[in-house]
Amino acid sequence: MAFRDIKGQEKIIEVLRNYMRASRLANTFLFVGPEGVGKKLVAQTFAKALNCAGQQQDDSCDQCGSCRKIDANQHADVSILGSDDEEIKIEQVRQLQASINLRPYEARKKIFIIDNAHNLNPESSNAFLKTLEEPPQDSVIILLTAKPKMLFKTVISRCQVLRFSGLARDVLDRILINEYAVERTQAHFLAYFCEGSLGKALRLKEAGFLKNDRRGLEELLRPSCWNIGKSTEQNRQFLKTRLNMLAGWFRDMYMVKIGLAHDGLIHAQEQEELLRMMKRYSFSELDGIFNTICETLFNLERNINVKLLIANLQATIWKN
Ligand SMILES: [Zn+2]
Repeated sequence: MAFRDIKGQEKIIEVLRNYMRASRLANTFLFVGPEGVGKKLVAQTFAKALNCAGQQQDDSCDQCGSCRKIDANQHADVSILGSDDEEIKIEQVRQLQASINLRPYEARKKIFIIDNAHNLNPESSNAFLKTLEEPPQDSVIILLTAKPKMLFKTVISRCQVLRFSGLARDVLDRILINEYAVERTQAHFLAYFCEGSLGKALRLKEAGFLKNDRRGLEELLRPSCWNIGKSTEQNRQFLKTRLNMLAGWFRDMYMVKIGLAHDGLIHAQEQEELLRMMKRYSFSELDGIFNTICETLFNLERNINVKLLIANLQATIWKN
């Protein structure tokens, strides 16, 4: 994907393209913004544009050997470091430092993308500072983070900081429909509750967030309904289904509260109950409940203690 194809981060992309057109390039960037809004995609596209053999000075062609290798993660001069939740260790930083001091193998610019840069531990951060201070001219380092508060201030101060915002709802709608073949009403639903994060929308979809059956809300709100015992895979699946049902109900309540036509509801025939229930919750409470359900579904996938998750969910929903 080239810069011209990326939806929703036009301002940031324009800044980067301007740098390239003016050949005024910083060597160290920090992309800050919520998870799932395109930081890594923009960083990888930037890497392609900087090394593209095509005609355009400020975008990638996606056809040349360099673009293709970067797309396939096989370019010798483009490295991506850092995963979801693992610490970035000092050995990895030392490897990067050894490599950054060599001339590019085939590229104009060597690119180092540090994903989840907040996972740099103190030792790694300290070791990294020197490189951030005086990076070789033929290299570009791009740090990505959703948690800038966890980064050393000294690291941040050495970078050109670009702030990514959440994607607008209509942009998300379009991406989900056009690029992920999500059905229109489902896309609308996901876009509503994923806080501007495409990553989150896709995770929710994957977790079966949209499926539903006809279990009543009163039953789901009974704490005994959530007595699930041990943290087994079976219980996780059970919990996932319940959470999806609950999400469906709260989604409808939200829709009724904002006055949306009732044929867009999952539980259209239960409008009376929805009208009655929605009075119990303010908009911000409904938002809070939704976020908690989303978080619980997400954490469930990451093997976090099920009982803790339920306790947290109950504290949010059952306070009413
Ligand atoms: Zn190219």
